Amino acid sequence: MSEELSHSSLITARRFFDSVTGSTKENQAILVEGGRIRAVGPWEQVRKESPPNAECYDLGDTCVAPGLIDSHTHLSLAGDGRVYAEMFTDTDEMMVLTGAMNMKRHLDAGITTIREHGARNKVGFALKEGLARGYIPGPRMHVSGRPITCTGGHFHFCNEVADGEHEIRRSVRRLVHEGADYIKIMASGGGTVGTIPGAATYTTEELHAAVHEAHYFHRLTAAHCRAKDSMVRAVEAGVDLMEHAEFLEQDGEMHFDPKIAEMMAESGIWVSPTLQTWTKYPRIVALRNLQESDITDAEVEELGQLEARAKVRLDIMRKLLEYGIQERVVPGTDSGVNNIAFGHLDYDLRLLVEVGFTPAEALVSATRISAEAMGIEAEIGTIEPGKIADLVAFRGDPSSDVSACSEVAAIFQAGERIA
Ligand SMILES: [Zn+2]
Repeated sequence: MSEELSHSSLITARRFFDSVTGSTKENQAILVEGGRIRAVGPWEQVRKESPPNAECYDLGDTCVAPGLIDSHTHLSLAGDGRVYAEMFTDTDEMMVLTGAMNMKRHLDAGITTIREHGARNKVGFALKEGLARGYIPGPRMHVSGRPITCTGGHFHFCNEVADGEHEIRRSVRRLVHEGADYIKIMASGGGTVGTIPGAATYTTEELHAAVHEAHYFHRLTAAHCRAKDSMVRAVEAGVDLMEHAEFLEQDGEMHFDPKIAEMMAESGIWVSPTLQTWTKYPRIVALRNLQESDITDAEVEELGQLEARAKVRLDIMRKLLEYGIQERVVPGTDSGVNNIAFGHLDYDLRLLVEVGFTPAEALVSATRISAEAMGIEAEIGTIEPGKIADLVAFRGDPSSDVSACSEVAAIFQAGERIA
């Protein structure tokens, strides 16, 4: 991605999405210079500022928005339905290739920035380096390197096991040294065999050691928290972003807890509910797309079961939103795990709409708010002068119809049109 392009371009389209206000504007233009937005405003006005040699892109009946941000991906995993134990029989080399494929898929869906949320050994770092060298196309990325986990903990096979405050601080130092942009820590069990999703894995003190050390190096923290107890401890420890937030108890059941919701709201912790992965949404979409004449009785039953199961999770999210945390919610796909193939942040946006966001609010969460949660709001997330010109154009109007987020018409990275 060459950010320092010297040439200018002028981009026009029927609508622009303003992720500051969550509204669309008509007859606008963007002037891009050196990869950054130089001016944005009414077409007539911006055109006057534009140099005569500027390259012109008239995107017609589309809506231009800031490039989408996915705050939760696992690039090294294929999202092809295999269980972790099977996926992790792949070599690191194969995982790098899987990552290259996934980066392209996400980019083609208008996702221009991601967080790589944990891979084995140096795989995450290698992908970021490959991108920086221009060897492979992909979204701008922040990498965690390897997730910090306890002995036998979720994703222990990524090889960053740490127990106790001392070892955790050591892990943070090692990851920062290797190039981690932020720190990911597993605060509860998960889908890894032998772990308990409903049980916390670290004490508040251990989590705080990670946060304290990470913040010393100006790195943000994200904690995998499926268990209720882990949610409490993450808030107490001052973790920046909570992943999943499922209110799980050790018996595997989800029970919403108003006290924890209050704590979360009060602390201002960012929350990434990863709704797509929990609800197995890609399968729901595939079944819903079957024609009535093609769908079998078994598939009708499967769809009913999946929808009933999804409702439990979505209801928990609806309750959490009653605590005024909407401006702290960031969508994340958790792509790579289970059957979650890359390329579908749009599914999470649809699910946010199902739990009460307007389509415009969902788009704001995937752009401006996600940039804020990653600490890169000065660079991306809105269409404003000075920002990097990472843009996506959708057919239709995604601010009134969330399904338009699945209809990508054009993509720009640092002002350069790539699709
Ligand atoms: Zn994940």
